[in-house]
Amino acid sequence: MVGRLWDRRFISSFLIIFFYFANNNSGDNLKNISIWKDLIKEKEYPKLSEDMNCDVLIIGGGITGISSLYHLKDSNLKVMLVEQNKMGQAVTGNSTGKLNFLQNDLIDKIRNNFNDEKASLYLKSQIDAIKLVVDIIEKEKIECDLEKVKAYLYTNKESEIKKIKKLEDFLHRNKIKTYKKNMDLIKGKYMIYVDDTYIFHPVKFIYELLLKNKFPVYENTSIKKIEKNGNFYMCYTDNNKIKAKYVVIASHYPYFNLPFLFPIKGRLEKSYLSASVYKDNPVSLISYSNPFISARNYKNYLVYLSNSDSLSNNTCDKNNFEELIKKLNDLNLHPDYLWSNIDIITNDGLPYIGKIKDNLFIGTGYNTWGLTNGVLAGKIISDMICGKDSEYINLFNPKRINFSKCLGMISDIYENIKGYVKGFSVKNDDVIYKDEDGSKIMNYDGYKVFHKCPHLGCGLIFNEVEKTFDCPCHGSRFDKNGKCISGPSNKDISFKKD
Ligand SMILES: Cc1cc2nc3c(=O)[nH]c(=O)nc-3n(C[C@H](O)[C@H](O)[C@H](O)COP(=O)(O)OP(=O)(O)OC[C@H]3O[C@@H](n4cnc5c(N)ncnc54)[C@H](O)[C@@H]3O)c2cc1C
Repeated sequence: MVGRLWDRRFISSFLIIFFYFANNNSGDNLKNISIWKDLIKEKEYPKLSEDMNCDVLIIGGGITGISSLYHLKDSNLKVMLVEQNKMGQAVTGNSTGKLNFLQNDLIDKIRNNFNDEKASLYLKSQIDAIKLVVDIIEKEKIECDLEKVKAYLYTNKESEIKKIKKLEDFLHRNKIKTYKKNMDLIKGKYMIYVDDTYIFHPVKFIYELLLKNKFPVYENTSIKKIEKNGNFYMCYTDNNKIKAKYVVIASHYPYFNLPFLFPIKGRLEKSYLSASVYKDNPVSLISYSNPFISARNYKNYLVYLSNSDSLSNNTCDKNNFEELIKKLNDLNLHPDYLWSNIDIITNDGLPYIGKIKDNLFIGTGYNTWGLTNGVLAGKIISDMICGKDSEYINLFNPKRINFSKCLGMISDIYENIKGYVKGFSVKNDDVIYKDEDGSKIMNYDGYKVFHKCPHLGCGLIFNEVEKTFDCPCHGSRFDKNGKCISGPSNKDISFKKD
């Protein structure tokens, strides 16, 4: 009898301890890095150390660059890719890793800015893009945790229910089935889902694709200048030059190509992300509009995004991270990872993909849906280089300017100007950060911090959570040692000891 009682007590104590640890998502070892970059073994590629001649030079090793490289592999052209830092570690490596065609309110934005026909073509392009990625993964036998999921879209605003219902009608007319259902994790006043979308590990996708193909890739190689020279482009790094017939700008921020008129054609949006231990049912959901929420599971984690806003409105990263943590705590989640990410939002809702001028191509402006659009950009650009047609060339024409939509950019331009003014008033030797505990790495006491952005001189903001110096105008980022980790800057900032 006593033995049985003891057994029961032992079993119940064991269960309590088991469930405590199973559910104790403590967030004790908080990391300020994206979950994709942390859970991957880094691979190294050489730095360019000699002058080169090639047919196609691809600038940038994110999803756009790798897709361009992949789609040109059987072309008989000599192709090479240069990456300023490490492959796949910039915007792609900080994303949520969804391959989804139900993209917040983007389809409605395109319907309003253009017409149903263009919105249908955009929708088709996203479905094609998802198929492209899945086909590559299957053909190359890539292990990147690809999972087919239901993708949910929801709203909690009464005024948006009608909009989602109209979107459903539009999807039905395009032969896409939608279903009504609420989720356990997040309840919406109105929630629908579609089938045939996927989630994956975006950095593993890039690394595995490189491994399987032995592409000519150079890391830590930044292009500083491009010059047209007859029928060729001369592209300059600090120490070498590359002569190329075709150049693909896959550098995310659209530079090297003035006059692209970027400031009136798009703006930058910053979002805050997390990954917390989560062992419930699989999730892939997004909200219809602001405040944007996006969530998906990855193994035992929930990747959760919130607080997206124009970069120009961003005043304090720490507050935004704190708000994110509050939302997570309300869901009984405690983050193990926190990071932020920036993408380009175009003023008409469509990406800029294609030719800008003679043999110069670009893929950018993906409105936070660049895993599909980046893969598609690689395919469209490689087809154009090889003289093949694509049904999406006109839709994504990067030279288009929609002047009525440009007006919407005025407030962003005004905020940019404020950023410059702040930059001019900043003295280069101001000390802007002292770690509270005086830790050696972050202790800038006695150091002079150069905190004007080397790109165009905006005053940098110190992001206390990720320990980076971030440009509030164009999104360049520098790590705590001053190394540029995200463009458009292609120079580091310097810290000088007194
Ligand atoms: C918060 C957030 C979540 C997102 N989640 C999703 C999602 O779930 N699904 C989805 O489809 N999309 C998502 N996106 C969008 C998507 O991540 C991006 O649009 C896409 O990754 C951009 O890819 P890219 O190749 O253009 O840019 P990047 O990945 O930034 O690659 C550009 C590369 O160019 C390099 N470079 C820059 N300048 C130079 C130079 N001068 N010389 C050499 N190299 C240079 C950079 O170092 C960088 O590695 C998300 C975006 C954000 C902000």
